[in-house]
Amino acid sequence: MAGFRSLARQVRDVRCDLALRRYSLRKCLERFAPYGHRATWDHLCARHSIEPEDRAPDPARLVAALEELEKARAVWLAYEESFADRRKREKHDGLRRPATIDDWHRRTWGGNGVARCERPAAHPSAPLDEVLRRLISALETEPGAGCPVCGGKHIVWRQDLANEPWFGPVCTGCGIVVPQPVLTSEAVAAAKRAGRKELASVA
Ligand SMILES: [Zn+2]
Repeated sequence: MAGFRSLARQVRDVRCDLALRRYSLRKCLERFAPYGHRATWDHLCARHSIEPEDRAPDPARLVAALEELEKARAVWLAYEESFADRRKREKHDGLRRPATIDDWHRRTWGGNGVARCERPAAHPSAPLDEVLRRLISALETEPGAGCPVCGGKHIVWRQDLANEPWFGPVCTGCGIVVPQPVLTSEAVAAAKRAGRKELASVA
């Protein structure tokens, strides 16, 4: 299975035909897609004016989309590296962290679905690296009451997510599944109440 970097080389390779270069970019998303595959593709297409179904898009746009993805990946991998180092030191010192943080990291290791979006068309519009920086700063500070990406306060707990963890808090502002470790327990409780209210209103 080709890795992210060799796929990225193919996206840039002017000797390859455009359909293959586009296909390689989509394959990159199987390695790294912060919003999940479909939502990240939708985001890149929107930001770089690529028609999602166009089999032969403008190569300059393909490369620009790849660059955005690479920049975000560099930000995320640097964070993971420092997290792993810190975790090792903490374990050595006998420090424990809430299990939810480790669970969340295990599930998203490598950067897939760190800010998963349930609906492919509903995702943050800021550049990916900026979104990840906001998420990282939230992970590195005390839990808060709002969405780490858009600051929105309307977060609703959903029971029917299409991916792991299958349920969790979703920001109605920007569409991401909010990593639970960045929310205070009060914020999680409020999201659950909002979720129950929504369920009751459709029943
Ligand atoms: Zn949000």
